[in-house]
Amino acid sequence: MFRLFKRWLGRSPESRPFPPEWSEILDQNVPLAQMLSETDRRELERLILAFIEDKHFEGAGGFEMNDEVRVTIAAQACILLLHRDTAVYPDLDTIVVYPSTYVARTKSFDGPVVIEGDVARLGESWERGLVVLAWDAVRRGTSNVRDGHNVVLHEFAHQLDQEDGTMDGAPDLGSRARYATWAHVLGEEYADLVERLHAGRRADIDAYGATSPPEFFAVVTEMFFEKPAQLRARHPELYATLADFYQQDPESFVLPGSRTP
Ligand SMILES: [Zn+2]
Repeated sequence: MFRLFKRWLGRSPESRPFPPEWSEILDQNVPLAQMLSETDRRELERLILAFIEDKHFEGAGGFEMNDEVRVTIAAQACILLLHRDTAVYPDLDTIVVYPSTYVARTKSFDGPVVIEGDVARLGESWERGLVVLAWDAVRRGTSNVRDGHNVVLHEFAHQLDQEDGTMDGAPDLGSRARYATWAHVLGEEYADLVERLHAGRRADIDAYGATSPPEFFAVVTEMFFEKPAQLRARHPELYATLADFYQQDPESFVLPGSRTP
């Protein structure tokens, strides 16, 4: 028995079977995972296995950690990694989960946890190596896959942003040309959003994105995956730039059971 377990552990995540119970969790909790092609779903499963093996999940504030929580969070985090030749959040050690919108100071970590300012964003915070989430916010973000709000996608976009050492609204893009495009396209869109809001005009990108360039990147990542058609129609360059980085075209995702027009 022990030897069998060891042999299973010794296999790389690529060759390890994905537990059927985890597939059920994906089917129940993660609509984005259900929209993927068969090939992408297999890739996502390999990433989830690697993520859960590598990261430490911890319940806080009386929250009891379980596989549903691990798999639901890992799946959405890993959707941001599909098709890209990248490590699985190499700087990230721990995901702390509170039952609901949490209080700032915790016993398990020294010092206060950074909480993002906007009320709508309570339940998320960040620090190097650490992601803090509130389970009620995770479930809210996950249950509606077309409302443009998803706290897990948002938080893990921040993780990608800081992988290059600075949290500046640009992840590691690999080439000078891509940085130039990114700065041009996201810079203009960000400035436009800020200007619109200052002028009291309506904007179709969440106002929280006007807080700072890192928040802009996180907010448009949510929109890219959850409102792709709208983003592509109204901000084609922004959509194309994100599609180039994420190597995905979420507009083509179809929720099983829904009809294509
Ligand atoms: Zn944020």
